[in-house]
Amino acid sequence: KRKRDDVDANKLQEAVDQIDVKSTFTSFSELPLSAPTEEGLKSAHFSALTDIQAKAIPRALQGSDILGAAKTGSGKTLAFLLPVLENLYRAQCIGADAGLGAMIISPTRELAIQIFEVLRKVGGKGHLFAAGLVIGGKGLREERDALSRMNIVVCTPGRILQHLSQTSTFNVDNLRMLVLDEADRIMDMGFKKDVDAIIEYLPSDRQTMLFSATQTKRVSDLSRLALKEPEYISVHEAA
Ligand code: ADP
Ligand code: MG
Repeated sequence: KRKRDDVDANKLQEAVDQIDVKSTFTSFSELPLSAPTEEGLKSAHFSALTDIQAKAIPRALQGSDILGAAKTGSGKTLAFLLPVLENLYRAQCIGADAGLGAMIISPTRELAIQIFEVLRKVGGKGHLFAAGLVIGGKGLREERDALSRMNIVVCTPGRILQHLSQTSTFNVDNLRMLVLDEADRIMDMGFKKDVDAIIEYLPSDRQTMLFSATQTKRVSDLSRLALKEPEYISVHEAA
């Protein structure tokens, strides 16, 4: 079974490398995605790409850093969750031995829970990733035990920093993707220091994606610290 998956992952990687990011994508079926992701999208009845998804996902699949801005309700969650699922899948970053592969930071517990629900809806069908929430709802020790088995964590800045600074066994050496959702709100809520501190713990050889509703100066302050030659993707709908 593992051998099959390796073959699939290699084939997918070839297809991803061949994506022409300049072409216009309209539906998920035009993208090289793993069978479990296709299954998840189908069961959630997602077929057409939103604008931000069409622009961000092809580039993110190829590993580019992304700075994406699009108004609330435009589908930013899948714009980063699909690349997280796919890039970890192709890297076979699956199971407890693989360690934590992706960290998704949200400004509030409520938003983190919403992201996690979308992750379960689209990724929970056929994917074998271990994913969890670290938002401070449970005891520190309980969260720590769960964290040690996760491939994908959806978290709030203060709580994940607490684990990074207090848990000597929390290993992030395999982390390859960092997502900041609602980056503008993360800044507005005064989490810049926490995010800067979190980044200090993470491998610098990683893919970073920032998404926000507005393209503020403060988001670009943050991005300067976190992004490498990012693709700037901004979607403005005609009024
Ligand atoms: P944002 O984070 O930009 O505010 P969300 O990711 O929360 O937006 O998505 C807003 C709504 O659009 C959600 O109800 C989601 O299920 C829906 N949605 C997202 N992508 C698609 C899509 N490709 N096709 C149909 N509905 C979608
Ligand atoms: Mg959102």
